[in-house]
Amino acid sequence: MRVTATGVCHTDLNAKNGNFVPDFPILLGHEAAGVVEEVGEGVSKPRVGDTVVLNWRAPCGDCRACLAGRPEKCPTPAVARPRMRTRDGKPLSRVLGLGTFATHTVVHAAQAVPVPASMPPEVACLLGCGVLTGVGAALYAAPVEAGSSVCVIGCGAVGMSVIQGARLRRAARVIAVDVKAAKLDLALRFGATDVVDASAGDPTKAIRALAGGGVSAAYDCVGIPATLQQALSVCHEGGTAVLIGMPVPRTEMALSLTKFFYTRATLKATFFGDGLATRDFPLLCGLYQRGELKLDELVTRKMGLGDLDEAFAQMERGETLRSVIMFQG
Ligand SMILES: [Zn+2]
Ligand SMILES: [Zn+2]
Repeated sequence: MRVTATGVCHTDLNAKNGNFVPDFPILLGHEAAGVVEEVGEGVSKPRVGDTVVLNWRAPCGDCRACLAGRPEKCPTPAVARPRMRTRDGKPLSRVLGLGTFATHTVVHAAQAVPVPASMPPEVACLLGCGVLTGVGAALYAAPVEAGSSVCVIGCGAVGMSVIQGARLRRAARVIAVDVKAAKLDLALRFGATDVVDASAGDPTKAIRALAGGGVSAAYDCVGIPATLQQALSVCHEGGTAVLIGMPVPRTEMALSLTKFFYTRATLKATFFGDGLATRDFPLLCGLYQRGELKLDELVTRKMGLGDLDEAFAQMERGETLRSVIMFQG
């Protein structure tokens, strides 16, 4: 596949820092749009010339979860074989089985999901990780109830997508939490009804007050103990705290079982928002094209591959929603 645009996601930074893939050399990048240039023998979908968005969680179709009709829970997603190699013949590992910080990549047919060619590549690529992760969390992993109050902790591209999902599900109150004032301003544009600046200390009281006692769901897009504990602490009785942000290896969290017992809360983790790319990429494209999903606003900057180090530095400083690497056709 020829890559046309690829977003720079936190998971790439995690992989770059050696946080979850032990095998170097590694080709980073997993949030991409492109055009199919060649297909293997027997592949009927996608076809040569199709515009596609890559999917790092393509269900295998054959495991217990897939056969039980829960493909979003598939533990063994499809990956391309044969594996890619470096110029001197060494195996090249790839982030989430994709590797898109390159002009071309080779993927499993099931990982390339056709989307309308009219989708601008710089926004189509975002569907492939951040957007479906966030919107999916609000639609599927812990569906927002119409009229309810929810809280979103961490307002990067994923958090903004949870906010949009909550708005699509008609939440009455969407409380955005971040430590950066600029991101809170943006959160209002994505549909947050209230914002809480967590840089001044524990925001639990403020969130609970805004939500009239507590939220029915709190989405942690950061993935550290402090934010997940915060998510649990702002839920009303029977609420759900959702872990979306990927914790670095060997992260542990202390939890008061006594408090947890009395909240009757649900603590839940999700990959990719429990989304299903073949169903959801076209759905999200439709929402975007009808003006019901903001994607252009997620792109902080477009750049060339040579600016990648700067993009990672800006991400670490919390200055971007998404940097998108563009390739010329
Ligand atoms: Zn499976
Ligand atoms: Zn990602």
